[in-house]
Amino acid sequence: MRTRFAPSPTGLLHLGHAFSALTADHRAQAAGGKFRLRIEDIDTPRCRPEFETAIYRDLRWLGLDWPEPVMRQSERRAAYDAALDRLAARGLTYPCACTRADIRAALSAPQEGAPGPDGPVYPGTCRDRTMADRGPGDAIRLDLARALARVGPLLFHETGPERPGTHRPDPGRMIAEIGDVVLARRDIGTSYHLAVVVDDAAEGITEVVRGMDLFTATPVQVLLQHLLDLPRPAYHHHRLIRDDTGKRLAKRDDSRAIASYRDAGLSPADLRALVGL
Ligand SMILES: [Zn+2]
Repeated sequence: MRTRFAPSPTGLLHLGHAFSALTADHRAQAAGGKFRLRIEDIDTPRCRPEFETAIYRDLRWLGLDWPEPVMRQSERRAAYDAALDRLAARGLTYPCACTRADIRAALSAPQEGAPGPDGPVYPGTCRDRTMADRGPGDAIRLDLARALARVGPLLFHETGPERPGTHRPDPGRMIAEIGDVVLARRDIGTSYHLAVVVDDAAEGITEVVRGMDLFTATPVQVLLQHLLDLPRPAYHHHRLIRDDTGKRLAKRDDSRAIASYRDAGLSPADLRALVGL
């Protein structure tokens, strides 16, 4: 069993992060396995070194330990490019320069597609473009229907409390509700979906522990694992820690930061109790 916690250094860690990291660590320790830390710093304009330092300090204070050196996504571009090249060589990708406004305009025509869980589904405007025609202002998208036709039935095993069991994502629903996802953003050259799949495989992660907000991202990531011949981990999507008004905690809410509780004199045990552990 190998789990990981993979925060982005774009703000202070809060109670929700503490719950996620402690859950990942607990599940690894309980199975005699290993917990790893990964720094997801590909969203470079918003990542700051002082937040990375704060991540190490806060997690150590909580009592967590992990092997050094930690994997940092900013040093992994070659691995992401190699994965993208493999998908491109199989004819599964295409360049796209559409802006959000272009996509909204294309979707304003009736019957062109319904909004999915992550916003409007891309209408496929650029699907006939080829990778040879890729320009510097282009993102790269996955041709989802073509990709799904290349793999056998998708399934993943979920060990989280809310939707435990074996899930078999339906290809028709994926096409209707998710669509041709971006694999490489024009600004950072990769994407969350591609990077997380490549990194989890490189680190030998056997169970991906993360919040329920990422449950809907799982089918695409399982598809990428199939297409790239990568091992397929189990998933454990945990509940989200919410504030008193029921809203999900955000990084800008510093009153819920781990550091704020520590400064107020709370102990790591107090924090575990606060998140129900
Ligand atoms: Zn496009």
